[in-house]
Amino acid sequence: MWPLLFWLFLSAGALVETALFLGQWGWLNRLGRNVPAELASLLPEGYGWWRGVTYARERLRVSLGLLLTRYAAVALAVGAGGLKAACRLAGAVSGSPFLAGFLLGAILTTAFALVELPWGVYGTFGVEARFGFNRSSPGLYLRDAFLKTALSSGLAGFLLGGASFLLGRPGGLPLALSGTAVFDVAAAFLLPRLVLPLFFRLRPLEEGTLKSRLESLFQRTGFSASSLQIADGSRRSTHGNAFFAGLGRSRRVILFDTLAERFPPGEAAAVVAHEIGHWKKRHVPAGLLHLFALQASLVLFAWFAWRAGGFSESFGLPGRPEAFAVMAYLVWGAMAGLLFQPLLSSASRCREFEADRYAAEQEGPDAMIGALARLATDSLAWTPSEPRYAAWYSSHPSVAERILALKDLKAAALSGK
Ligand SMILES: [Zn+2]
Repeated sequence: MWPLLFWLFLSAGALVETALFLGQWGWLNRLGRNVPAELASLLPEGYGWWRGVTYARERLRVSLGLLLTRYAAVALAVGAGGLKAACRLAGAVSGSPFLAGFLLGAILTTAFALVELPWGVYGTFGVEARFGFNRSSPGLYLRDAFLKTALSSGLAGFLLGGASFLLGRPGGLPLALSGTAVFDVAAAFLLPRLVLPLFFRLRPLEEGTLKSRLESLFQRTGFSASSLQIADGSRRSTHGNAFFAGLGRSRRVILFDTLAERFPPGEAAAVVAHEIGHWKKRHVPAGLLHLFALQASLVLFAWFAWRAGGFSESFGLPGRPEAFAVMAYLVWGAMAGLLFQPLLSSASRCREFEADRYAAEQEGPDAMIGALARLATDSLAWTPSEPRYAAWYSSHPSVAERILALKDLKAAALSGK
């Protein structure tokens, strides 16, 4: 029954996702050179509409390649013996469930990263470079790829090792659930301190107009200036960005230098206010809760399948905890991707609207509208997505949707007075 369920969900996932991608491809082709009526009044003068559509198409090609590569890699690993060989190797090196699980997690994560690497390289040096966005050198790119793979392999190894160790032990289920929660919170605290400095040089904001502009924002919102840092995003790409990371005292707003230096202070302040909005509206704990709910459903699924017995053997794998844990992850992943992806995207889009609203309250709707329009213009990101594709994948509403929501807000505020 398990293999049937797995192959059913995996092929359903591949079909649904490919259909969504093809829908988006057709949509972009139909958009072509015609600017949709609702966008015409929003686009800044001189915006390269056709260039934007071409860029979206090229990026979609890379994402589709990556998607199909992933599905093929999972199918080959499970169906053609790749996973079996990895399990045998990990089990031969060590008999202890933790170490064997650690090795297996690290081997598989590294293998997947290597398979996906060509798409990443093409995306950066083929697509991003062609549109003038890439600033990363091959050396820096390889260093990043190596670091990311090492970090995620270590992390996957640790989680799979922990899961293998706890499986079947008395008290293992509550321990696995509480261990997962502790791990999530610890990761949220450590991410800004340990991981961000590996990829960015972070510096405090220098004195100047932006700083004085932000100081009053910090005062109003109870945020401390020391938790805003400027990252040298310009070393890798020209895309402007800002994000929020961490919990409690380790929380940080990270503003890319590309944005801090190029945007008028009022608009940069609106972007910072948007990130503070994520914090004020408790989006970080909400995101952590979603993550934990997902992981808890995996733990419960694994526990159920372990008790039922014969799970990993039905895939031709050894009945050892690490083989079981990895297969439980793959089966659950095939199901969860289909069931939860649209829900998570929709929750994330709601949070973005909320943070925009907060920014508009702090810095005025016009500053936020200006910032969004500038970001979209600089990154050729005005092209809207096909509605079903956007509903499934987009973590952010389209720029036009965000700007129109802010304009509504402004109109409502004006008529309310
Ligand atoms: Zn946001």
